Amino acid sequence: MKTIAVKAVVLGSQGVGKTSLVTCYETKTFHKNTSSTIGASFSNVEILLSDTKVWDTAGQERFRSMAPMYYRGANAAFLVFDLTKYETFTDVQSWVTELTSRVGDGLMLVVVGNKKDLRDDRVVNKITAQEYAQSIGAFFVETSALDPSDFQLKVASLVLFK
Ligand code: GDP
Ligand code: MG
Repeated sequence: MKTIAVKAVVLGSQGVGKTSLVTCYETKTFHKNTSSTIGASFSNVEILLSDTKVWDTAGQERFRSMAPMYYRGANAAFLVFDLTKYETFTDVQSWVTELTSRVGDGLMLVVVGNKKDLRDDRVVNKITAQEYAQSIGAFFVETSALDPSDFQLKVASLVLFK
């Protein structure tokens, strides 16, 4: 059985929940039915997620120069923002500009609105985030690190069944 490794990087402002999501997620191997013929063949797809901080105000310029090393070879980028902090959504938009200018089209982008459990504090509405994601050719998902299986399912369904 062949295993395909998919490298996915997780980006976003400090405090949006990157480490929480990645820690709960760890490395998962999913099975994908790659054939519709009788005697179906399966392949493993291993999705390796790693996270980093971006735009901690003090380190911004230093990080920007190192960022390309971090996302080199990535197949997917998860751009995480906090649904309860509007500026983290704006930060995603700046980050996308940087990514697309350097990496180009090969990268699958997923905009992730995290902390959906904090319903009463929510300030970024779903339509706004969806429309933005659509405008850059990205997927949009809402997650909560309090429910890690939710994030795992969304990662799997996006990466495997795109
Ligand atoms: P990072 O800086 O992006 O890595 O963010 P962290 O993973 O360190 O999370 C920052 C804070 O937000 C921590 O106190 C987490 O417990 C909290 N947090 C992360 N994800 C969620 C979530 O989905 N819901 C809630 N309520 N809190 C979260
Ligand atoms: Mg972190």
